[in-house]
Amino acid sequence: MTKRDYYEILGVLRNAPETEIKKAYRQKALQYHPDRNPGDKDAEEKFKEASEAYEVLSDPEKRSLYDRFGHEGLKRTGFSGFAGFEDIFASFGDIFEDFFGFGRFSPRGRGRSYARRGADLRYDLSVSLRDAAFGRETEVEVKKPVMCEACGGSCAEPGTSPETCRWCKGRGQINQTQGFFTISTTCPHCHGSGTHITKPCKKCRGQGKVLQVKTLKVKIPPGVETGVRLKLNSEGEPGEKGSHPGDLYVFIHVEEDPFFTRHNNDILCRVPISFSQAALGAEIEVPTLNDTEKIHIPAGTQSGDLFTIKGSGIPYLNGMGKGNEIVQILVKTPTALTERQEELFRELASLEGERVEKEKSRFRKMFK
Ligand SMILES: [Zn+2]
Ligand SMILES: [Zn+2]
Repeated sequence: MTKRDYYEILGVLRNAPETEIKKAYRQKALQYHPDRNPGDKDAEEKFKEASEAYEVLSDPEKRSLYDRFGHEGLKRTGFSGFAGFEDIFASFGDIFEDFFGFGRFSPRGRGRSYARRGADLRYDLSVSLRDAAFGRETEVEVKKPVMCEACGGSCAEPGTSPETCRWCKGRGQINQTQGFFTISTTCPHCHGSGTHITKPCKKCRGQGKVLQVKTLKVKIPPGVETGVRLKLNSEGEPGEKGSHPGDLYVFIHVEEDPFFTRHNNDILCRVPISFSQAALGAEIEVPTLNDTEKIHIPAGTQSGDLFTIKGSGIPYLNGMGKGNEIVQILVKTPTALTERQEELFRELASLEGERVEKEKSRFRKMFK
């Protein structure tokens, strides 16, 4: 379907000033608003079309893109119109509020006078690399607002009850007639609730909610890494007026480990060995995530050589197997040689025909 020209949709000239565009949109929105045309698909389309046109033409940046490149120009910015009413009301909440008094008009319960879902909460949890590898059940203490039991969420001191707001007579909205239509706005005195609290609840200071610490069990699945979010359904803030609570997201941070460096599901461990072990080969004990393991180092191993212990890494979150442990060998150069060791190294050097530093005199060694 080809898209219609935005100016044509709103019925304004290409050089129309912003005020005129806003006025034109108001008219279209009033005419085609879904609440005025229930079940009328054609009106609904026209309403969406007008809202999209307004979204673009009321934004100087988008308008200039549209003027120069048309609909194509906007695609490059990622703008592709509205998916549904939710989007439209989210973008133009203020305008609709000016027009009609938002709560009454909102078809999808976005309005202020509708009960809102509780907010989601975030909790940051640090876990050791071992816990990330093997999983663990732990407890977290989350501070979150819960309904005040003293006033039952009414915000009024127990024994008193909220009075009907005098300004809006309990309707939550105030009407003003302007030109053709009546503008409804949220009552500024009661913020749309229609009631006025004379004696606020002492326990929650009239908030209707109090902060409470709740202990929650969190199951860390094996294989988590930093950035993984665990969702605890309905453990966020409570919703308004009994509507659905939000969720709690536990953000995982995996701590650094003194022995292992993680590379996706593999872990790297650097293990020092001596010159003689490297030259002659040896069986060495290396740390693993849950214990230690013996591995065989062949004669002639170089510093930096890698050995793999299959399946000793971190499990995949989907439960499909595990990564490996990579052992990197570091050949340690001996320091502070005993006399005997030095003698043997000198003998070795002369066998290899290598020139090495001359032996220091006994006297100089004493003051080294
Ligand atoms: Zn209270
Ligand atoms: Zn009021």
